Amino acid sequence: METRLQQLCEAYHMPFFKNVLLGGHTTFQIGGKADFWIEINSVEGLSAVLRFCHETGTPHFVMGKGSNVLASDEGYRGVILHLGKEFSGMSVQENHILVCQSGAMLSSVANMAAKHQLSGMEAISGIPGSVGGALCMNAGAYQREMKDIVLSCDYLDASGNLHTLQRNDLNLSYRHSFFTEHSDCIICSVKIQLQPDNSGAIRARMSEYAECRKSKQPLNYPSAGSTFKRPKGDFASRLIDLCGLKGFRVGGAQVSEKHAGFVININRATCEEVLRLCGYVQNKVLEKTGYILELEPVLLGIQQEDFLCN
Ligand SMILES: Cc1cc2nc3c(=O)[nH]c(=O)nc-3n(C[C@H](O)[C@H](O)[C@H](O)COP(=O)(O)OP(=O)(O)OC[C@H]3O[C@@H](n4cnc5c(N)ncnc54)[C@H](O)[C@@H]3O)c2cc1C
Repeated sequence: METRLQQLCEAYHMPFFKNVLLGGHTTFQIGGKADFWIEINSVEGLSAVLRFCHETGTPHFVMGKGSNVLASDEGYRGVILHLGKEFSGMSVQENHILVCQSGAMLSSVANMAAKHQLSGMEAISGIPGSVGGALCMNAGAYQREMKDIVLSCDYLDASGNLHTLQRNDLNLSYRHSFFTEHSDCIICSVKIQLQPDNSGAIRARMSEYAECRKSKQPLNYPSAGSTFKRPKGDFASRLIDLCGLKGFRVGGAQVSEKHAGFVININRATCEEVLRLCGYVQNKVLEKTGYILELEPVLLGIQQEDFLCN
C-alpha cells in the first residue's frame, strides 16, 4: 500500500512524508506521529489519492492549519491530506465575488479582500486557519460567520468525484456544516460574496477586531481556541469561571486565567491531559449549573470516551 501511495504522489508531484509529528502541525502543539502526510497541490492529485484510499480502505484525514484539532498522543494510523500553501490560490471576480482554494489562510483572503476594497470578512479575519477549515466548522466571531458570506463551494466526495454545493445546501449552523456531517468529503474551493467599501475603513475594522482578540484571548500559549461550544443561552467561559476553574491544571494543560473558555498548553501537555482536564471541567459545570459543555476541537485518532472523566 505504502509504495503504491508514494508512486501515486510522485505521479502528481505531491510531496509525500512518513512518520510526521502532528504536534508540529497543530496550534495546540499536541499529537504523536501520523503514518503518512501528503502536501496536496491539485484537485486532480487530491482526487486520485481519495480514489486510492477509497479502493484500499485506507483511513485519511484532511487537515488545514490544524487550529481546531486535538490529535492523539499515539498519532494517526492513516494518511493526512494537508491543504496548505500549495493549495491556496485566490482571485477576485466580477460582482464583488472572491474565489479561493481551500488551503488559503482566512487572514490572507481577508487581506486580499481589503486590498480590493471588499468588505464582509473583517470580523472573521483574525480566526486562525484555512478557508476550508473555516467553512467546515462554519467559523465565526463578533456576530459574523462563514455562513454570512459564502455563496458556494466545490468539493470532492470519498470516491474523488467533484461536486458543487450552493449556500443553502451547505447546512451551515453554529460550528456545523455539510462537511461536519460528511467528514469524507473535502472542500476544494470556496466562492465568497462581499460588498464594496473603502479600504481604509475595512482595515480599521480589522485592526479593532484584532485588538479585541489580543486583549481577551491567551494568544501567547498554544491552544485550539475555544475548547467548548457555546451552550444555548449562556457562555462556556462564564460557566467555567462560575465554577472557580480558571487556572485549573492537569499536567501541562490549564484552563486559561485570561479566558476561561480556552484550555491552553502551558508545558508540553499531552492529549490525555487535555481530555482529562476537559472531562473534569464538563463534570463540574454540569454538577453546578446543569449545562452540558461539548468539546469544540475535532479529535484526531482518539475519542474523549477513551478517558475516564474524574
Ligand atoms: C487562538 C485561536 C483562536 C480561535 N478563534 C476562533 C474564533 O473566533 N471562531 C471560530 O469559529 N474558531 C476559532 N478558532 C478555531 C479555528 O481557528 C477554526 O475552527 C478554523 O476555522 C479551523 O481552520 P483550520 O484550517 O485550522 O482547520 P483544521 O483545524 O485543520 O480542521 C478543522 C476541521 O475542518 C476539517 N477541514 C479542514 N479543511 C477542510 C477541507 N478543505 N474540506 C473539508 N474539511 C476540512 C478538518 O478535517 C477538521 O475536521 C480559534 C483557534 C485558535 C487556535
